[in-house]
Amino acid sequence: MPMSPSFAARFEPIARDVAEHFGTPFHIYDERGIEETCAAFNDAFAGTGYREFFAVKALPNPAVLAVVARYGFGFDASSPAELAAAAAAGATGADICFTSNNTPRDELVEALHVGALVTIDDEAVLRQLLALGPPPARLAFRLHPSAADGTVHAGLLGDTESAKFGIPADRLVPAVTTATAAGVEDIGLHLMRGSQLMHAEPFSRTLGTLLDLAVRLRDEAGVAVSSVNLGGGIGIPYRPGETPFDLKDFGATITAQLERWERHTGQRRPRLHLESGRAVTGPHGVLVTRVINRMHKARTMIGVDAGMSALMRPALYDAYHHVTVLDGQSRPTEVVDVVGSLCENNDKLAVQRELPRTDVGDLMIVHDTGAHGWSMGFTYNGRLRPQELLLHADGTVSRIRRAETVADQQATLRFPATVLSVRRNPSTVR
Ligand SMILES: *Cc1c(COP(=O)(O)O)cnc(C)c1O
Repeated sequence: MPMSPSFAARFEPIARDVAEHFGTPFHIYDERGIEETCAAFNDAFAGTGYREFFAVKALPNPAVLAVVARYGFGFDASSPAELAAAAAAGATGADICFTSNNTPRDELVEALHVGALVTIDDEAVLRQLLALGPPPARLAFRLHPSAADGTVHAGLLGDTESAKFGIPADRLVPAVTTATAAGVEDIGLHLMRGSQLMHAEPFSRTLGTLLDLAVRLRDEAGVAVSSVNLGGGIGIPYRPGETPFDLKDFGATITAQLERWERHTGQRRPRLHLESGRAVTGPHGVLVTRVINRMHKARTMIGVDAGMSALMRPALYDAYHHVTVLDGQSRPTEVVDVVGSLCENNDKLAVQRELPRTDVGDLMIVHDTGAHGWSMGFTYNGRLRPQELLLHADGTVSRIRRAETVADQQATLRFPATVLSVRRNPSTVR
């Protein structure tokens, strides 16, 4: 949701001072807003066996992870770097879900070593895991999106045909049986079928699918499923005026569905796991960037000091991010493209957008960058990823990540020299 009135009221009056002190550009996150959203998640599922595992990839900064951890959230990690970020925020063992795919062996070893609940994405990964020695007591199994009835949301997760994630439903029973035969005692199920979903209904259908599979596992393999994970995918309104996802309705729908199932099947209902990223932090961050050039081509181009290396979503998905100009409300407007300095024509934060007229030095605010913002940034063209700041509940601001430097980028060029010179025996060369 474009910046909440509360975030705006606390940040905008100090924005110039913050920009002066820390320099631009920066992502700044609203601690109080994140706290309120964490509390709203917990309220929506109060009384249900539920735990949120914040998807680290949405905002992998330990200072922010520590905020959500205060609300009892665990973490969903899918790489060693994300495991390290979760550990830096104090998470251990069962606080972490490891939901990876095409999992490399050494990453599997690392996830098992920290005691994370590993989600098996394919039988190939299960075979790797079982070859490592005695398996962990708990494992989860991710289902291929084709397991879900109705529309599968293509795009990030792929459609029924092209999706690379998870185990097809008809192979679940044998895969789980292999695991239990090897000594795994506690089985969870996982299915994520979309992102940026704005209603409870697709989640409810996903839950229905997983609960049906839980019955099958009981009947065909004698296995009781202890947790169901609906993945992430709760959407946020990126445009002003859009209706936000109704967390209360979501919680009530899912809770009622679990209770009904328990009554009908006589089976104990599994715990509910979610791995929300975007919905937790997305609306509570903005990218602040300064206008550095006004340029006139066929269109008016407003050049700013941030670009797609700080926020990829507009270039990658043609995504809309709301843009405002600090203290620009009463100015005449103009239609412009807001551009960065990368040598790619899609390096634009906004395209043909009506904005207040800006001059060099003005501050622009790009909204809803609290998830999949900094974390998707990249360094193509030698562009440097920006710093991250945290606006605390008491109104103070701290730097929680410095901006990248050229020296950071060149660090991988410094290493002990190593040369391999392979000499072949001529008689063996044909
Ligand atoms: C990306 C991802 C999430 C988080 O998705 P959001 O849309 O940010 O809520 C959760 N789980 C898995 C496995 C993911 O890949």
